[in-house]
Amino acid sequence: MSHNKPHAHDDPKYAVHKTDAEWRAELDPMQYQVARHAATERAFSGAYWDTFKPGQYDCVGCGTPLFTSDSKFDAGCGWPSYSQPINSTVVERVRDASHGMVRVEVRCNHCGSHLGHVFNDGPTPTGERFCINSAAIAFKPKTQA
Ligand SMILES: [Zn+2]
Repeated sequence: MSHNKPHAHDDPKYAVHKTDAEWRAELDPMQYQVARHAATERAFSGAYWDTFKPGQYDCVGCGTPLFTSDSKFDAGCGWPSYSQPINSTVVERVRDASHGMVRVEVRCNHCGSHLGHVFNDGPTPTGERFCINSAAIAFKPKTQA
């Protein structure tokens, strides 16, 4: 697994491009700070840390489906936690050396929005824990057929 070197959230390599004014207009202030400036919401403050209904979680920046309820688990940390994304191409892993720690940042691979971080203390089978901000994702309940 390779971790991309640090680069901007509005790097031209991302498929989706919006101006800063457009991002501000489309996102609420918390979503904007988290998704576009890599802020972290306070633990137990977000909409989804305690949500376990069936459904999927889409990127607030571009609507790409990122995670499903099938891989969501209660990590007790106060943020939505998943053992894996919907597939390996929807998220990007970027080395993050901010705040005096070396972590692996998780971004939407389509629009560059910051989602959270991934740690190696998750459950089987992946052993990974995707610790994601509620403000970066939008829950879509599974509709009953
Ligand atoms: Zn996105």
